[in-house]
Amino acid sequence: MNDLAQLSLNHVNTLSRPSDLRITDMRVAEIEGAPFRSALLKIYTNQGIVGLGEVRDGASATYALMLKSRLLGENPCDIDRLFRRIKQFGGHGRQGGGVSAVELALWDLAGKAYGVPVYQMLGGKFRDKVRIYCDTDATVPSGLETGKRLKERMDLGFTFLKMDLGLMQIVDTPGTVVAPGGSLNGYRSHPEHGTGTSLADRRRRNATYDVHNVRHPFTGLNFTERGLDMLEQYIAEVRTVIGDEIPLAIDHLGHISLQSGIRLAKRIEKYAPAWLEDVIPWQYTDQYRQLQQATTVPICTGEDIYLKEGFEPLLKAGISVIHPDLLTTGGILETKKIGDMAQDHGVAMAIHMAESPIACMAAAHVAVATENFMALEYHSVDVDWWDDIVSGLPKPLVTDGFITVPDKPGLGIDDVVDEVIAGHLQRGVTGIWQPTDRWDDEYSWDRTWS
Ligand SMILES: [Mg+2]
Repeated sequence: MNDLAQLSLNHVNTLSRPSDLRITDMRVAEIEGAPFRSALLKIYTNQGIVGLGEVRDGASATYALMLKSRLLGENPCDIDRLFRRIKQFGGHGRQGGGVSAVELALWDLAGKAYGVPVYQMLGGKFRDKVRIYCDTDATVPSGLETGKRLKERMDLGFTFLKMDLGLMQIVDTPGTVVAPGGSLNGYRSHPEHGTGTSLADRRRRNATYDVHNVRHPFTGLNFTERGLDMLEQYIAEVRTVIGDEIPLAIDHLGHISLQSGIRLAKRIEKYAPAWLEDVIPWQYTDQYRQLQQATTVPICTGEDIYLKEGFEPLLKAGISVIHPDLLTTGGILETKKIGDMAQDHGVAMAIHMAESPIACMAAAHVAVATENFMALEYHSVDVDWWDDIVSGLPKPLVTDGFITVPDKPGLGIDDVVDEVIAGHLQRGVTGIWQPTDRWDDEYSWDRTWS
């Protein structure tokens, strides 16, 4: 560092010498049940400070580890430069998980190095508290029962709710779904992945894989009038328990046709849902235009879109709410850019999140620093060890349905509590923060042009 740089830093309360900070290592801890499977990420430096990130729920830690060789020796404060170097290795859905995890950890390191919270580096706050929406999986075929569960969330202070409404609630009732013969079996039996290692076991798993990867227009599934009656009754019963005033978003319709999505949307308009989510794959922009033009229910998508450019056609098509996940978009800065772009189109941003307090805090920093933010997802209200995964945050982190973002550097988290996560490792994982030397020299000629 030259004298001038040193002189300027004399006026900054840094926790390290940021100009000389270098990445020395990257390790993961793969956990399960908080509420799903995710990999916590640590990026280590030559000055003792450690950055925290997280690979998205359901994604492989390999997506992050394969980036290690591209980052060793670099200054983590060069967030955007390093992001542009690795962004070619991200993709939609879970494939964005590695790049995004790294990006989060770089922001945490930059914040810790300079002693500044992430939200401040994004331009400061629009609000002090982040409104949380509480997701509640509908595993019971009764609207009254689901209503009671949602009411319990309201009693905890939540001011915004989400539930499932679709194929799952009616598939076991005859006469509710038009389906090509046998095509519902995969949904009815909810086959588990299983652990067998024979070729027959692997073939069974692949058959399940295929069922879940047929896109909506190709399944041939449609709701019957009886099916629609049942779904309408379901949400009517929920509203009788929770009342008419609290926002209630709807997710997981099942892999049904666009036309069935429109018919369901029209049926439930009178219950004023906050939004209808992922009715069809987000890639079908023109079908999203048809869907939104056919109903007054706000149409929402976005949790599987990598990078800002994936959102632009949907905003132009007229969707009402975007729903990015920081662990797919490419991370903190990309999500802030996506939110600002949506605001230019008059569209609100909710944020999808289904992981540990690390992902949650990253989302919370973006949420306070983005004007059109509406609500942040929380999926772990029933996970009693969720708050204990990290140290240095208020407990419980979600209080009366809101998160207050602390003024501490970076994401605001002190550390991961190893004793807690060690009891919740993914199947087959034998330890946490184990050496990752095998990724130190991973190599390909990365340039995508000549
Ligand atoms: Mg969803």
